[in-house]
Amino acid sequence: MTNPLREALATGRFCYVVELVASALTREARLLETASGLARIPAVVAGSVTSYAGGAMGHDPLRVAAAARARGLTPNIHLTCVSQDRGGLSKSLDDLQALSLENVFALTGDYPGAGDQPPVFDLDSVQLVRLIDERRRGGVAFHVAVAVSPFKYTEADCVYQYVKLEKKIAAGADVAVTQVGWDTLKFEELKRYLDARGLRTPLLGNVYVLGPKTAERMATGRPPGCWVSPELLAAVRAESQAKDGGRRARLERAARTVAALRGLGYAGAYIGGTHDAAHIAWIIRRAEELAPDWEGLAAELRYGAAGGFYLATPRKPTARPRRDVLPRLLDRLGRAFPVSRDSPLRRALARVCAWIDRCRPARALLERVELAVKKPLFGCQACGNCVLGHLEYVCPQTCPKQLRNGPCGGTDQGRCEVVPDKPCIWVAVYDRAKASGGLEELKIYVPAPDRRLRETSSWINYFLDRDTRPDRLLVLSSAESRPRRTSR
Ligand code: SF4
Repeated sequence: MTNPLREALATGRFCYVVELVASALTREARLLETASGLARIPAVVAGSVTSYAGGAMGHDPLRVAAAARARGLTPNIHLTCVSQDRGGLSKSLDDLQALSLENVFALTGDYPGAGDQPPVFDLDSVQLVRLIDERRRGGVAFHVAVAVSPFKYTEADCVYQYVKLEKKIAAGADVAVTQVGWDTLKFEELKRYLDARGLRTPLLGNVYVLGPKTAERMATGRPPGCWVSPELLAAVRAESQAKDGGRRARLERAARTVAALRGLGYAGAYIGGTHDAAHIAWIIRRAEELAPDWEGLAAELRYGAAGGFYLATPRKPTARPRRDVLPRLLDRLGRAFPVSRDSPLRRALARVCAWIDRCRPARALLERVELAVKKPLFGCQACGNCVLGHLEYVCPQTCPKQLRNGPCGGTDQGRCEVVPDKPCIWVAVYDRAKASGGLEELKIYVPAPDRRLRETSSWINYFLDRDTRPDRLLVLSSAESRPRRTSR
């Protein structure tokens, strides 16, 4: 079976992917009507079927995808880490494989908007890409898209997005799709970032057909990660006074964005905000007419944050921030008592831990002591797989999505998507890494924790080599009571 998305990216033909929002608000019949219309537009290589968009349940994406394919449109299915553990995600991959659905958009996903129970975030998007890549190594032809948001206007938010993209690429991503945004300086910045590192992963720029209602909502930062500047909001409001309610103006803006993306060297456009195939056809035609003037159009589309961070902007050199006392102290201790490699001290501690592990009261006491020390200092939640030393002594379990490889795309000026009055924990990781000159270390892949070790002592698990850590992988098997260690 051919895959037009894979082929277009491989041959460098500028292509279009159109988002089909499979939410409860859109009738399934309407979605499929759109799919039929899109299938008749040769430049459209896939329909991207959302799952759990905006943190709410919608139609079954697999059913929509299979029905879209039956109408001639190749699907690209969103697979999110929300409320599915790795077993559930593996099952979803089995289902995709069974239906020969090849294109997967691997996402962390939006935090659910309702529900009594905190949602499950067992894997993060980098770990999900790795999971899919493992399947691929087993001979299954998955094609993996990932998300990145260049539209971040603080240094930590912005650079960490790019670092995380590098991790996704290393894990096996085939194409990266940007978040919604209307700032060509940021589109360009992302492209330059990858080029400077010799990364040839194709980019699809997000082109959203922005109407007044959505603009008002995005101006308040909803949904998380989508942001409309006051200037753009004013422009959309003014346009909406036209006789057609601003329809022509928003399609024109979308076509101009496509022309700019093409000029910037993007592999294609990812169009959202309309389910009207005639609109998509119009945008594609108009973008082709505008292509020769792309530079001027790119210069006009600059709705960024005033005074916001841009990687290329020369800034006054500032003194390197001083690292907090606690990480400095813990690093010093780590150097004074090296236990991360084989040493007499490590062997002695491993023997002590083995003894404590066999003696139930001693083990329970150590578990209590560990939590009593780490909870007040780091917010420890006794996951049993401690990676504090790899994350600048910031506990990843304190992230509401329990991510281990960097922030999601929902941050807003360094604030958390889920708890907006709190800073995103990854800002502290970034700032401390920068202060210690350790930004490169942030590119290390951090595996998902072994959940069976919950509420056990991570110290024992560490010295007995049971936990998952960036420097080793564990072969996990439900048939085994304990995970088996293997070298990478
Ligand atoms: S053991 Fe787990 S929950 Fe506790 S500090 Fe370490 S990473 Fe966080």
